[in-house]
Amino acid sequence: MHCPFCSAEDTKVIDSRLVAEGDQVRRRRECQGCKERFTTYEVAELLMPRVIKNNGVREPFDEAKLRAGLLRSLEKRPVGTEQIESAIAQIKHFLQATGEREVQSRMIGEQVMRALRGLDEVAYVRFASVYRSFKDLNEFRQEIDRLESREKE
Ligand SMILES: [Zn+2]
Repeated sequence: MHCPFCSAEDTKVIDSRLVAEGDQVRRRRECQGCKERFTTYEVAELLMPRVIKNNGVREPFDEAKLRAGLLRSLEKRPVGTEQIESAIAQIKHFLQATGEREVQSRMIGEQVMRALRGLDEVAYVRFASVYRSFKDLNEFRQEIDRLESREKE
């Protein structure tokens, strides 16, 4: 990295330590040109990927929308806020862990279905039937079979 004082390219790390409870690395550097010292901080980049909708349009990940979808499916169901927030955190973590800059909205839908299935069967069926817009019960049954067989893999 360039020296902020003289723009020389050659800088040396003279000290390196974890800060912010281990979430950041603080480095003390010294410029090999002008001998000035400066500090840099390094943090992990955890950006949410953008979402590619079915029609190809890209939009920013919308946590409020994700939460609204979950809450709608879980209306009047015995599932606590803490469990819902934990499911949201897990879905976000999953999306961040893909390391992709863009993900298909379908991938998020499948994560929501997976989360709901673990929380409440009724909510799962509600979400899946709207999400997949099943034409009949047979088609819905097939979808459940597909998800179940996939999970066994
Ligand atoms: Zn310098």
